[in-house]
Amino acid sequence: MLRIENLRKTFSGNERERITAVSDVSFKVEAGQLFTLLGPSGCGKTTTLRCIAGLEHPDSGKITIDGADVFDDTTGVLVPAYRRAIGMVFQSYAIWPHMTVRENVEFPLTVVARRHRLAAKGRTRLVNEALELMGMGAYAQRPSTALSGGQQQRLALARAIVGKPKLLLLDEPLSNLDAKLRERMRFEIKRLQTELGVTAIYVTHDQGEALALSDEIAIMRDGVIVQQGNPNDIYNQPGSDFVADFIGSANLVFGTCQVAGRVGELIEVELEGGVRASGSATCDLAEGDPVVLVVRPESVKTTPLAEGERAPEGQLIGTVRARIFLGESVDLLVETLGRELRIRVPADSAPYRPNSSVALDISSRRGLVLRDDRTLSLSNKVEDELGLATA
Ligand code: ATP
Repeated sequence: MLRIENLRKTFSGNERERITAVSDVSFKVEAGQLFTLLGPSGCGKTTTLRCIAGLEHPDSGKITIDGADVFDDTTGVLVPAYRRAIGMVFQSYAIWPHMTVRENVEFPLTVVARRHRLAAKGRTRLVNEALELMGMGAYAQRPSTALSGGQQQRLALARAIVGKPKLLLLDEPLSNLDAKLRERMRFEIKRLQTELGVTAIYVTHDQGEALALSDEIAIMRDGVIVQQGNPNDIYNQPGSDFVADFIGSANLVFGTCQVAGRVGELIEVELEGGVRASGSATCDLAEGDPVVLVVRPESVKTTPLAEGERAPEGQLIGTVRARIFLGESVDLLVETLGRELRIRVPADSAPYRPNSSVALDISSRRGLVLRDDRTLSLSNKVEDELGLATA
């Protein structure tokens, strides 16, 4: 349905500097999928989306929507935004304040109407359908300035789908809503997208939102995609400590590979502090390789210790520094190995008072072992600075 190949977009900063917003991005989205671009602020998500919409002119690459090239720098094709059959929801909603709810939703059709001569009756039917679908039928005649945040969001969605677009682009559509409404609107967006069977590209920096909504997630960093997969794979098989940390509150514990192993095998590692643990390897590893064990908060087995009691063989001892109540569970910040680990326990488990001691079993085999590429990135940086890196 959508194919992006080697997309690149730079902006002029000042006269000496060019800002590379999107360095080299390629991905494919199947029809009917919800595909998410996820990453920290400034990594190039919005620029990628705006290039797909036709609101930015890429430097190079190719964009194909539903089999038709809409941008190709090699052939000079550049289809204008209004001819790309796209619906878009902006972070700011971009609702026209001088129009009623109905007029806002109808507006995109009036642009189409001139070319396709869509009769007023046809427009009314499409607007009514879109308003009903978003539960906004009762507000049709209201001035658009007299709406709550959630209603403005629904209006923006109704306006984006009224023209029955092939592709729906959503740029951080929930970021202006409070936490509770955000949660509800997530389901609304998923329902809408599934009901319409429309292909959607969703941009967010919220990993919870991405995991809950997406069929496929691409994680971006510094203008490139660093990993792509379904939510389950991204969460359970992060390819780097950046992804592991970004996608969930992962604990990263450093150590050394004890016995060589191949990707997917259970690898034994010796951690800082001499404790042994194991986890499945996300790449081939040799004995002695520096590694990072990624331990999710919910994968650590925790037992309270009485004063002066030692941790069982093979387990770490730690001190509870803070307790965060999350409703059904409690997160403990536990100091061990000179750092804080985040550990999730059921809310009805032992009280785990601050400053009490706990034994931590992180050898649950549910952890992941990644290669520790901190030294690699450091040597790349040195090469960069010396001008030795290949372009
Ligand atoms: P956020 O989550 O904060 O919206 P993002 O991942 O969507 O971030 P982009 O908005 O795509 O990131 O920006 C990528 C980079 O390009 C940033 O460094 C940004 O400052 C720069 N950039 C974006 N638009 C422009 C512009 N019009 N002119 C100059 N630089 C720009």
